[in-house]
Amino acid sequence: MEPVLKIENLQVSYYTDAGRARALDGASLALNAGEKLGLVGESGSGKSTMALAMMRMIKPPGRIEGGRVIVGDTDLTTLTEDEMLKTRLEKITYIPQGAMNSLNPVMRIGAQMVDAIKAHDKSLSKAEMSEMSMDSLESVDLDRSVFKMYAHELSGGMKQRVCIAIGILLKPQVIIADEPTSALDVVTQRQVMETIDRVQETLGAAIILIGHDMGLMAQFVDKVAVLYTGRLMEVCTVREMFTNPQHPYAQALIRSLPSFDNKGVFHGIPGLAPALLRLPSGCTFHPRCQHATEICTTTLPRLEQMENGRLVACHLYSEQV
Ligand code: SF4
Repeated sequence: MEPVLKIENLQVSYYTDAGRARALDGASLALNAGEKLGLVGESGSGKSTMALAMMRMIKPPGRIEGGRVIVGDTDLTTLTEDEMLKTRLEKITYIPQGAMNSLNPVMRIGAQMVDAIKAHDKSLSKAEMSEMSMDSLESVDLDRSVFKMYAHELSGGMKQRVCIAIGILLKPQVIIADEPTSALDVVTQRQVMETIDRVQETLGAAIILIGHDMGLMAQFVDKVAVLYTGRLMEVCTVREMFTNPQHPYAQALIRSLPSFDNKGVFHGIPGLAPALLRLPSGCTFHPRCQHATEICTTTLPRLEQMENGRLVACHLYSEQV
């Protein structure tokens, strides 16, 4: 099966007075239709940058410096700004962090949805656009009456569902959801995640779920990609990640999770993630890695496919690739 999403060697830098910060350094991924990928990593690891780069929404002083993002048979990096404007929502959609707070408080929900459709297709009648909007609201378990409501009349969970409904109005092939459940209580989190899950299944879209909550990831994604200092460290199935992570950083992430076995003893990851402006030489994890050897301090490990199919960027496995 041809992947619906291919990311090849995507690179993003931010240029500041203090120098160049490489926020994303050569990320490559492929996702099939219907696949769910969780993108995890500490704050500042490049998760949101990767999402924004896929949408071509990086703002100065940031710059996409290389790579390709291919959705279906369209290379997004070659599109004009106008073509890209149409492609967002139609082929690839991004539900940003805190999306529910971006709803316009003085416009009815329906008017905001109709505006989004109008920006893509001016040929549709008002009735058709209203019908599409109400269908989309229904698909995320909201009543059609929400169409006539204002954001302040909705709960946090309902607002987040509205944002998902807007995101899927034009039935995109790829959905990126950036921390879609942050600021929601645990019951609502689960309901929102179930909604995303069902919507994704109905559309047959590929989904990238960005987040910190490994528990939610464990329940809702098929594959996990671990980012650290803008580099992909490991990509594998969710089962492999939780039962047998290979990369020392992925191992440390999993070890740091609370479990019934650790009897209240938490294992943090020693040290701090380095500043992007002053990345260590070689493997960027080497100052925090208990397996580091000489080569780790000088040579950057490439993300390579191991015999078992998973992708790992670590010198420990260089003989196995
Ligand atoms: Fe640790 Fe070396 Fe692997 Fe980096 S390449 S994670 S420093 S063992």
